[in-house]
Amino acid sequence: MNLSANFHDYEFRCKCGCGGLKLHPGFLDRLQSARDTVFAMTGKGIKVLSGCRCKVHNDTPASAGGAGGHPRSLHVFDFPQHPGQDGCLAVDCEAVDGAYRGALITALWTNGFSVGWNAKRGFIHGDMRILLGLPQTTFDYT
Ligand SMILES: [Zn+2]
Repeated sequence: MNLSANFHDYEFRCKCGCGGLKLHPGFLDRLQSARDTVFAMTGKGIKVLSGCRCKVHNDTPASAGGAGGHPRSLHVFDFPQHPGQDGCLAVDCEAVDGAYRGALITALWTNGFSVGWNAKRGFIHGDMRILLGLPQTTFDYT
């Protein structure tokens, strides 16, 4: 099922087996816009590594087969982690190539996303926390 011009439902469903999918209103429009931007810059789209997570999957450590996410992760779709949240508003994107990564960070940032870079695992996290009234920021994973 297409969710937008270039994104499909299966890319965002929770990977624990529950298949859960709920995106915060406005999130996907901004992600499609970021995708259009990075495609114009590089000719490459966005490969989604992680979208929606149920709270159980998010909170289960990676060593036990879970996502091992932040306790208040914006990936969680079935339990509001922040006031006003109504679904997932975060995505982890594959970003191994350095030049592509720079373009992706630019595309996400200019479309309002907060950006985190996980160098060890080669992905860029983008989230639309600004839709919840939280300030746009960048961070790393230590
Ligand atoms: Zn799940």
